[in-house]
Amino acid sequence: MTKTERIDHILERMMGIPQRDQAHSRPLESLVLTILSQNTTDTNSFKAFNALKNAFHGADGTIDWQQLVDAPREDIADVIRTGGLANQKSERIQNILCWIKREYGDYNIDFICDMDPLDVVNLFTTQKGIGVKTISVVLAFCCGAAIFPVDTHIHRICRRLGLVDDKFTAEKTFWAMQELVPKGKSFSFHMNLIYFGRIICQARKPLCEECPLTDECKR
Ligand code: SF4
Repeated sequence: MTKTERIDHILERMMGIPQRDQAHSRPLESLVLTILSQNTTDTNSFKAFNALKNAFHGADGTIDWQQLVDAPREDIADVIRTGGLANQKSERIQNILCWIKREYGDYNIDFICDMDPLDVVNLFTTQKGIGVKTISVVLAFCCGAAIFPVDTHIHRICRRLGLVDDKFTAEKTFWAMQELVPKGKSFSFHMNLIYFGRIICQARKPLCEECPLTDECKR
């Protein structure tokens, strides 16, 4: 059994096997929401996303992407102000939408769910504002793809456990972990590490004396 498999088993014994919710948004909506969530809380990014939806919607209530692309950038920034970095995010969202329309002929990226997830990561990270975390979150949560997103918490825990080199960036950790995560476990292992980071292996004061992974940890 590999080290990652042992850790996965211990976490499953501790917290169970998280199941996916049914995906409830389209990949493009999910991508925009994930861009809005950069450097802010879920609450603020949802508020910004709903404000965007209210300001630029079509007759069916969904976002009218063309309206959003045609709108003055300052108007979009005003609408998404609650999500922070409003000027930067409004510029990036408009540029990404233009790229999608130019490359794929429509404001629709549903096709990414049928592609190899790592090919999608390589393709979409060519765009400013889309990092490996952003696109892998869309693939994992919206498409149900077998991909293991690495956020700041998972990056910290993987380094503490010695799964990756201590000097790795989050992006390097992402690529290394795609090889290490047990097959079929990308979603549950991701979710369990997130919970584990909240309740035990916290950023500032990890509760090592209560941790079931001390034998695996190099701290
Ligand atoms: S022993 Fe401490 S640092 Fe290591 S995984 Fe557990 S809580 Fe985190």
